[in-house]
Amino acid sequence: MTASALLQDAIRERTLLGDGAMGTQLMLAGLEQGNCGEEWNLTHPERVLAIQRRYVEAGSECLITNTFGGSRIMLNRHGHAGLAVAINKAGVAIARKAFGAKGGYVLGDIGPFGGLMAPFGEFTEEQVREAFDEQAAALVEGGADAIIVETQTSLEELGIGIEAAKRAGAPCIIGSMAYDVTLDGSTFRTMMGVDPERAAEFMEERGAHIVALNCGTGMEMERALEAVKRYKAVTSLPVMVQPNAGKPRLVNMKIVYDESPEVMVRGVAPLLEAGANIIGACCGSTPDHIRAFRAAMDEYFESRRIANQGAAREG
Ligand SMILES: [Zn+2]
Repeated sequence: MTASALLQDAIRERTLLGDGAMGTQLMLAGLEQGNCGEEWNLTHPERVLAIQRRYVEAGSECLITNTFGGSRIMLNRHGHAGLAVAINKAGVAIARKAFGAKGGYVLGDIGPFGGLMAPFGEFTEEQVREAFDEQAAALVEGGADAIIVETQTSLEELGIGIEAAKRAGAPCIIGSMAYDVTLDGSTFRTMMGVDPERAAEFMEERGAHIVALNCGTGMEMERALEAVKRYKAVTSLPVMVQPNAGKPRLVNMKIVYDESPEVMVRGVAPLLEAGANIIGACCGSTPDHIRAFRAAMDEYFESRRIANQGAAREG
């Protein structure tokens, strides 16, 4: 399969499987906490490629580039601001290579710039805009099929990311919010107080093609399902969902995630039932999680096909 149809059109025909975590996989491959994982696109491309190949082998049809912290503001923390364009282009090339002849959709990743904008923080809106513009342009020039502005908590920053993707000419733009379940457990909103209805309306107004959620706190499969339903209630845009593999816990100075593939996969059929258009997973998930998702999705579609055939014969 080559990605001949635009992603936003392809997913209206058939739900696609995304990938799992990159950060935790980079750690397993030897990246030390606090070091620059995006630089590996240039220094250890084979390690990034190996991770993404495992996702493709597990059944992923969309790969998110290893460019989460690839804006010059984030890279500057490691003294790599000057490598921003090269790191982002390499990120797209590695993901493309990981698909090989099979083909698939490469989603160019733009994560948060990692600070606060004036008047609350030290960065001007202009600096953030320049950083996102540069990153988005490099991802599109590299050949990304879409740009995902992800793990967003404020509409202001999300808006700058979407505008950057538009200016870069991205064929598809995905906005993805990180929600936290409230203390009383009754609902969820982003750290900056944005609820899913407002986020979806904002994304649609700004011209995003897909509304999404990823990461967050307490946003496991059941909450993700709730988010999909709330998105679908206010927008007709396709929905992408990437929950974490449970809550992170610190064990022997290592962060571990509790939800096994067996646990997480139980949430897949309900997400399909609710109409999720791309299903992947975020922090703590592994190729084994994605393999389990693949099996569950294939089984779901096969059972529906048989049910439809039965209905056609009776009708
Ligand atoms: Zn995450």
